[in-house]
Amino acid sequence: MLFGKKQEETRAEMTVQARAKINLTLDVTGRREDGYHLVQMVMQTVALHDDIRVTTIHGEKKPQGIVLHSNLPYLPVDERNLAYRAAELFYARTGALLGTCEIEMTKRIPVAAGLAGGSTDAAAVLRALNALHGTGLTLDELCEMGLKLGADVPYCLRGGTMLAEGIGEKLTALPPMPHCWVVLCKPPFAVSTKEVYRQIDETEIPVRPDTAGMLRALEQGDFAGVAKRLCNVMERVTAEKRRQIGEIQAALRENGADGTLMSGSGPTVYGLFSDESRARTAAKMLGRRFADTFLTETV
Ligand code: ATP
Repeated sequence: MLFGKKQEETRAEMTVQARAKINLTLDVTGRREDGYHLVQMVMQTVALHDDIRVTTIHGEKKPQGIVLHSNLPYLPVDERNLAYRAAELFYARTGALLGTCEIEMTKRIPVAAGLAGGSTDAAAVLRALNALHGTGLTLDELCEMGLKLGADVPYCLRGGTMLAEGIGEKLTALPPMPHCWVVLCKPPFAVSTKEVYRQIDETEIPVRPDTAGMLRALEQGDFAGVAKRLCNVMERVTAEKRRQIGEIQAALRENGADGTLMSGSGPTVYGLFSDESRARTAAKMLGRRFADTFLTETV
């Protein structure tokens, strides 16, 4: 008789690194009928990451469902958080048994910065749950699921050096970018991605990335060729309004950056350095003025 038998509680835990990305190029090439913008961008993963610890608990008396904690008190911990939505979607799609799923996020990637912070957290949750539940979804299947959460999530699942087209979801693996040091610097203001797209729609884009040239430079492992072709059509829109974008770029160049650019819809600006000590000096210098300054490297 089962009556009175104590159910055993089982726990499984996993910590996944959720890495940030930078754009080596970003071009807006058109608009779909549903309003989504068509883009062409070369993306690169960097070592700066959030830690996502996922614990699944089964057999406990009172299952809690999905519970999210974060080290940043101002980040929502409910459906508004992409990591939470990733877990919800995973359980809904796979039918995996949800007892309690605890997600503990330690964020280091600055928020709303053009570094795909939310998307990479969502990708990390999908990877962790797939492993913890043994659901065996392939990377393609995870990417298909991730796309429901955001256009950058499939890229974050794959990582590395990639060409992203369509709304960002059509991915082509590229030869890895030659290793370099990256100084990231986020000025203390927020940018509305929607507003940047609105302005791009209203004006002619005077300078576009030489994407073909960038692909050639990557194929040849030509770091200088990559650094000189960094180009983001969104940069001008924000730099015209906020002089800090140009000031950070000037400071990075003065300290020996081989190339600088604003990432994504900004406002983070980065510099690429072949020389580690120059990168350290630049990060130290910028760090005095901007708290959100990080020295990292390509992965
Ligand atoms: P992208 O480069 O994809 O445009 P981003 O780096 O500019 O992204 P995020 O850091 O993803 O921007 O944050 C954008 C918004 O998403 C913020 O306003 C934030 O409140 C919300 N958000 C939801 N989930 C997260 C998360 N896990 N981490 C950070 N922001 C999140």
